[in-house]
Amino acid sequence: MDKDTIAAIATAPGKGGIGIIRLSGNKARAIAQRITGLSTLEPRHAHYASFYDRHGEKLDSGIALFFPGPNSFTGEDVIELQGHGGPVILDLLLTEAIAHGARIARPGEFSERAFLNNKIDLVQAEAIADIIESSSQSAARSAVRSLSGDFSEKINQLTHDLTRLRVYVEAAIDFPDEEVDFISDSTIVNSLDAILQSIDAIYQQTRQGQLVRDGLSVVIIGKPNAGKSSLLNLLAGDDLAIVNQQAGTTRDILREDIYIDGLPLRIIDTAGLRESPDEIEQEGIKRAKREIEKADTLLYMRDISENGNKQNLSTLDAIKIELQSLGINTVDQTPCIVVNNKIDLHAIEAQQIQHNAYREIFLSAKTGSGLDFLKQNLKDICGYQNTEGNFVARRRHIDALSQTQQAVQAGRQQLLEFKAGELLAEELRQAQNHLGQITGTVTSDDLLGEIFSSFCIGK
Ligand code: GDP
Repeated sequence: MDKDTIAAIATAPGKGGIGIIRLSGNKARAIAQRITGLSTLEPRHAHYASFYDRHGEKLDSGIALFFPGPNSFTGEDVIELQGHGGPVILDLLLTEAIAHGARIARPGEFSERAFLNNKIDLVQAEAIADIIESSSQSAARSAVRSLSGDFSEKINQLTHDLTRLRVYVEAAIDFPDEEVDFISDSTIVNSLDAILQSIDAIYQQTRQGQLVRDGLSVVIIGKPNAGKSSLLNLLAGDDLAIVNQQAGTTRDILREDIYIDGLPLRIIDTAGLRESPDEIEQEGIKRAKREIEKADTLLYMRDISENGNKQNLSTLDAIKIELQSLGINTVDQTPCIVVNNKIDLHAIEAQQIQHNAYREIFLSAKTGSGLDFLKQNLKDICGYQNTEGNFVARRRHIDALSQTQQAVQAGRQQLLEFKAGELLAEELRQAQNHLGQITGTVTSDDLLGEIFSSFCIGK
C-alpha cells in the first residue's frame, strides 16, 4: 500500500465561496500543523485558523478539520483545510502542502484508498463517481442508494448463499462415506434454483440502474420537414430537461439529452445526412452513419402526407430501402420505431401498431397527440420501469452478473445431467469469483486503475 501522504484541491475548479484542500496519509496532521501553526488539532473539531506559507507569511484564513484514521473517509489520517474558493489561493495552499511533504493525489486516489482500506467496496466507490456525475435526479438517487450499500448488500447475500452451497457440495465430495446422493438430495437443486432466482431479480434491478446511468441512444432519421425538430422539441419541452445541445459544424450531427420518466435518452438527429457534401459535410455524414450503426434504437420519422396517409404503406422494406440509400445496412439488428407524423392534417387517430420486426406510431409533433405511445415504446424497447429503489449500476456489473448466472446454470447442468459433483463445485467457485469482481473482493490492478482514473481529482 502506498504510504505517501496525498493532497488535492477537493472543490471544483473555478471561483467559489469556499475552497477545500484535502490531505490523507501519515503526514497529514503534521502538515496541517505546519500550515496553521496550531500545536494540537482536536479530532473532528472545527478549528478557525490562519494558513501560512513556509516564510511565515499569511496566505489565507479558514477552518482546519482533522479526521484521524481509521475512522475517516480513506481510513488514514485526513485533513481538510477550508479557505476561500479562489483558484490562485488554493494553488498556493496546495503548494505549501507539497512543500511540507505531501504529493499531489491522482484522480480518484482518496476513494481508491478508502477501497483498499476496506472503508467502502468497489460498488460504493463507483457510486461516489456516479453521484458526482449524475445528470438526472433519478440517477443521483440511485447512486446514493448504491453508496449506502443497497446493491452491495444484495451481492453479499448472494455470495453468502453461494458459499454455503459450495461448502455443502465440497463436503459431500470430500466425505463420500456420508453418502450424499447428489441427485436425490434435493437440497442442492433447490438451493441452485433459489440462487438462480435471486440472480435474476438482482439482474433486473441492475439493468434498470444501468439504464438510469447510461440511458438509451436513439437515432432519429427522416427527410427534411418530416417533423424531427418539432418532435425533439416536444419531447424535450415536455420534461424541460435539455441539458446539452451541441452542434459541431453546421452540418454535424446534433445531440440532445432528454429524459422520459428518469430514463436518459441521447437523441442524435441526423439532419443533414442527405445534404450534398463538401469535405466537412462528408465528415458529418460519416459520423452520423457511425452513430446509426451503434444506436440502441432507430426512430424513423416521416410525414404521413407523403405516404398517402395509409398505414399499410409503412413497411420495413421501405425503411430499409431508405436507409440503404444512405449507405446504412444495420437496420436488421437495431430495434426500429416508425413514426408517422402530422396526423392532425389528415384526421387520423393517434395509434400504435406492433409489427413483427418493428413498431409503428401515428402521432402529431404539433399537437402532441400520440406522444405517449412513443414514450411508452421507447421505454418498452429497453425494458425500463421507473420503479423506486433502483441502484445505480454499470455495464461491468451486468456482465459479471450474467457470468455468475451462466456459471450457476452450468453447475446445475453438471449435477443433473452428469452427476458431476466436482464440476458443480468448480462452477460455483467460478460464480463466486464473478460476483467478487462486482464488489471488488476479486479484482485486477487493471480494473482498479480503469475505475479510479475516471474519477475527478480530490475525490
Ligand atoms: P425537420 O426538418 O424534420 O426537423 O422538420 P420540422 O420539425 O422543422 O418541421 C417541418 C414543418 O412541419 C414545420 O413547419 C413544422 O411546424 C411542421 N410540422 C411538424 N410536425 C407537424 C405536425 O405534426 N403537424 C403539422 N400540421 N405540422 C407539423
